Amino acid sequence: MNQVVPGTLYIVATPIGHLQDMTHRAVEVLRGVSLIAAEDTRTTRVLLDHYGIATPSVSYHSHNEVRRVPQLIERLKEGGSVAVVSDAGTPGISDPASVVVRAALEHGFPVVPIPGATAFVSALVVSGLRIDRFVFEGFLPVKKGRRTRLASVAKEVRTIVLYESPHRIQRTVRELLEHCGDRRVVLARELTKKFEEIYRGRLSDAAAHLERKVPRGEFVVVLEGMEEGMEAGTDDGV
Ligand code: SAM
Repeated sequence: MNQVVPGTLYIVATPIGHLQDMTHRAVEVLRGVSLIAAEDTRTTRVLLDHYGIATPSVSYHSHNEVRRVPQLIERLKEGGSVAVVSDAGTPGISDPASVVVRAALEHGFPVVPIPGATAFVSALVVSGLRIDRFVFEGFLPVKKGRRTRLASVAKEVRTIVLYESPHRIQRTVRELLEHCGDRRVVLARELTKKFEEIYRGRLSDAAAHLERKVPRGEFVVVLEGMEEGMEAGTDDGV
């Protein structure tokens, strides 16, 4: 079945590590579109080669989106179909996609999701923490606004999900401990990859765990929310 409709923008999820975490539909769509807009064409080429997908690709990332988006819209106007993919997981989740999505919608083109892996959902569902309500914070700001964001995370009663890179994970866990106290946390590292590790403990244990060896790989941090009833500014029984 031809999955692809002309003049449509597809937002296609790709694996977060394990090449087999690709849906049949994602493969069909990537085969069927006229063009793939990829965050890094070399990274995506590995996936395309694995699935024998010969569709041409161009780069689409935060540094060229201003120039690239009009070209992608032009392609849709000509009756082409375009798939957006990122290096890993779902485009738009801490990855480029939102600018082209808005542009396509403004020009009246349909935007269709092709769902699949997203690192934070995988981490949440194995965390063992409460996940009936949660908040996704993505990456904490590195400099400006970091303390303010940490302060707001500290007051959050829902489970909090953060993304972090290996070279900042130690600092982030230390600062979460300072701001939030010794809450339960889960560090999900290298999900779906050979060295996948899911560490569950308190923030103080996690900080010590990370000190023991240089952290490698990418992390999702799932942090318990502030205990109900401890909320700043609320009175008991109100
Ligand atoms: N679009 C992606 C998604 O849907 O999850 C997220 C892209 S963001 C640029 C990259 C961050 O996602 C990493 O720094 C890490 O926090 C998280 N991440 C991506 N793949 C991961 C994996 N296999 N294991 C753990 N975290 C991962």
